[in-house]
Amino acid sequence: MRILIVEDEPTLRAQVAEGVRAAGYVADEAGNGLDALHLGDTEPYDAVVLDLGLPQMDGISVLRKWRAGGRVMPVLILTARDGWHEKVAGIDAGADDYLSKPFHMEELLARLRALIRRAGGHASAELVCGPLTLDTRHNRVLVAGQTLTLTSHEYRVLAYLMHHGNEVVSRSALIEHIYAQDFDRDSNTVEVFIARLRKKLPANMIETVRGLGYRLSAPA
Ligand code: CA
Repeated sequence: MRILIVEDEPTLRAQVAEGVRAAGYVADEAGNGLDALHLGDTEPYDAVVLDLGLPQMDGISVLRKWRAGGRVMPVLILTARDGWHEKVAGIDAGADDYLSKPFHMEELLARLRALIRRAGGHASAELVCGPLTLDTRHNRVLVAGQTLTLTSHEYRVLAYLMHHGNEVVSRSALIEHIYAQDFDRDSNTVEVFIARLRKKLPANMIETVRGLGYRLSAPA
């Protein structure tokens, strides 16, 4: 899962990015509205944290442009304390949730988890696929109740597949959602992660759909 963090205050941006990464996501950062607009238009984010007071282009305008352009990723806006009018304007512009500054990192992460799972059609914090359970609160995957030992990359691949269970996920989509923008991406590594996951999971859960990608589903 890949998150865009838009905040012009460098210390706060770094704190949010650190918290988001510690929670198992990959994060890209933007410090002004124009950079944010460009990244959101060109990269497939699973969620965006968007401050509203930004240089070059304000957050509401960025959000309106994304929505007018058909970008549907979940957006959590950061508003000033008591800025009820900002919240109304943000939600009307297409925001999915808001958080007032100052906020606790735990609350931001809980709201992000909820936005991401709802965007995938999941209401519960635990995603289930056959014998697998993804506990999104603790970044872990259980097989029949036992925690699976996964590297951070294996976790990201499996979490993305579980959020998109029974769907065919292309290799390029996996790459785009498990690496940040500045990472040197090598598409062969996805095959390596898939091969390692297959050894750790019950048999036949990750199917290769020739020419299209991979599909995670419960064993028949
Ligand atoms: Ca600001």
